[in-house]
Amino acid sequence: MQKGNIGVTTDNIFPVIKKFLYSDHEIFLREIVSNAVDATQKLKTMSERGEFVGELGDLTVRINLDKEAGTLTISDRGVGMTSEEIDRYINQIAFSGATDFLEKFKDSANAIIGHFGLGFYSSFMVSKRVDIITLSCKEGSKAVKWSCDGTPEFTIEETEKTDRGTDIVLHIDDDCKEFLEKNRIQELLRKYCHFLPVSIAFGKKTEWKDGKEQETEEDNIINNSTPIWKQKPTELKDEDYQKFYRDLYPGYEEPLFWIHLNVDYPFNLTGVLFFPKIKNDLDLRRNKIQLYCNQVFVTDSVENIVPDFLTLLHGVIDSPDIPLNVSRSYLQSDANVKKISKYITKKVSDRLDSIFKEDRKVYEEKWDDLKLFINYGMLSEPDFYDKASKFSLFKDCENKYYTYEEYKELIKDNQTDKDGNLVYLYASDVEKQYNYIEDAKAKGYNVLIMDGQLDTPLVGMLEQKFEKSRFCRVDGDTINRLIQKADDVENVIDADESDNLASCFNSCIPVVDKSEFHVEVQSMGKEAAPVVITRSEYMRRMKEMSRLQAGMSFYGEMPDMYSFILNYDHPVVAKINDSLKSATVDQLKPVEAELKGLKARQSVLRDEQSKAKDGEFTEEMKKELDKCNDDIKTQEDKKKEIISNYAKSEAKVRHLIDLAMLQNGLLGGKELTEFIKRSVELL
Ligand code: ADP
Ligand code: MG
Repeated sequence: MQKGNIGVTTDNIFPVIKKFLYSDHEIFLREIVSNAVDATQKLKTMSERGEFVGELGDLTVRINLDKEAGTLTISDRGVGMTSEEIDRYINQIAFSGATDFLEKFKDSANAIIGHFGLGFYSSFMVSKRVDIITLSCKEGSKAVKWSCDGTPEFTIEETEKTDRGTDIVLHIDDDCKEFLEKNRIQELLRKYCHFLPVSIAFGKKTEWKDGKEQETEEDNIINNSTPIWKQKPTELKDEDYQKFYRDLYPGYEEPLFWIHLNVDYPFNLTGVLFFPKIKNDLDLRRNKIQLYCNQVFVTDSVENIVPDFLTLLHGVIDSPDIPLNVSRSYLQSDANVKKISKYITKKVSDRLDSIFKEDRKVYEEKWDDLKLFINYGMLSEPDFYDKASKFSLFKDCENKYYTYEEYKELIKDNQTDKDGNLVYLYASDVEKQYNYIEDAKAKGYNVLIMDGQLDTPLVGMLEQKFEKSRFCRVDGDTINRLIQKADDVENVIDADESDNLASCFNSCIPVVDKSEFHVEVQSMGKEAAPVVITRSEYMRRMKEMSRLQAGMSFYGEMPDMYSFILNYDHPVVAKINDSLKSATVDQLKPVEAELKGLKARQSVLRDEQSKAKDGEFTEEMKKELDKCNDDIKTQEDKKKEIISNYAKSEAKVRHLIDLAMLQNGLLGGKELTEFIKRSVELL
């Protein structure tokens, strides 16, 4: 027997590596199994080239668990190693590789995807001793056994082994007993080795016999060595993709579409990406793309490799050209990764474009489930916007779909306002905004439905991208003012009269938590509703954005701003106006006369004040102006009181208010109960 010292500089680096790679101990299995696969592939290549002439035989890689002996053994029938090769590849290279690795990633070990580059060495993360028992495929080789207990010392001796290939025997450490559990190993094999290109057997298949689980003769093959992404798209059917998807994501709904990726220049990449149904949950579906390197699973977090919106997709990317032994933050700036990311983005938009062009009907059917993904892409990647703006759709309240171009054509004649702006009307809730939608339809306008999670930012972006265009939610204002036409002649209403009417209604508006109302009078025609409640587009958008973005919570705290618009032309309102006038005329007359005088004086004084040079506006004049202001306030309060007294006596005022609030879901609790009581009384 020979003894030796492994060429590492640090005396004992094992405890170090064990400690700071703790969370990823499990990768040892991937490393050891992929070495076995590599050795097998090498042998196949040698055989093809005639460098190896013996029988290949069964090349299955076998994994065996011996709980009693406390060992996990990975056996292959690959090239094997001679004692010289062990010395070169294990003693020198593998170990120095580990030392380099440590040096390089001392501070950021967890930032490295899958810790590639650790290789054989990683077996010591879970083992108190590792044996290599191997027989090289080279003719006349002798079997050797190498053994190392986790110090830099090792032994190497001749041994008995008749079959070509390598057994790696891991004597599992006492604090890593989990790796002696069948289920745990099964789980790891599924995660890392599911698609390795050589058959992997984990023990034998079992069956239930005589009430006991018993081993059969059949190998328990745990992998699919020719996954679909390695096959030719022309040889695959839809069912193959669907089945693969189900295997990968059990319990998920069927995907909408998929893309088969396949390039070998200027980088090598294969894969299949699936478009899942996303509906309205952006965050739940992340981290479903699996990254492989030559069919070895590396990670399922691909951020920094593909643009953020693509992480919503599912599927597999396999590329040996993604550098895996660099830190995550470095990845994004890697030239290959940039190219790969661009390529995938382009493929995704090309695929959507072709489905859209070839089968518009299917595309429309799937649009609702696809929309969030496309919107997210358009918002976050300008390149994607340029492409997607050709196949992104609008949906109207009649469930008809239009491209941006088509929609513009549809509305451009009727929905251009007097300043030449194209007005896109939209609703976020067809039920709740029913009356507003009807008002718009009555004018021959089209109303879009915008009820998606990202519609508010999308609308903001489209307003920037489209020329001379505005998006207005139907309840943002009265329809005449949403799209103002040149020939709309506004009925001029007497200012005092309209003030009094507004004040009459204002005095009856109930207090609603976090809401503010502002009453105004407009002439909207006899056919329109007597009262319309609208909600400021600007404030509403700001509040919605504050929910999506940090740092905007200020807006979230602001009250909701509603306008309460009285239709002067409506007979009920006109009637109230008339009776308001006649009921209050006598009381208001002296107050208004008084106010008129006061205001005239106020304006004279103000005028003088503004023109006065130093000292000309005397202390006395200032006092008079102050008093004048106070008196005006007193008279106005008096006026308000007179009007409010009338309002209280006229149940219709409050009733109209309640009806409008009810229609907008603003009436609740005590107010609602009182409204119902009042309604019953009226019957
Ligand atoms: P890498 O696989 O990246 O080369 P490893 O540390 O995993 O690095 O392995 C070091 C070397 O040891 C391999 O390159 C190979 O030459 C040799 N080796 C490891 N496992 C086996 C095996 N099962 N059969 C033959 N050679 C092996
Ligand atoms: Mg390796």
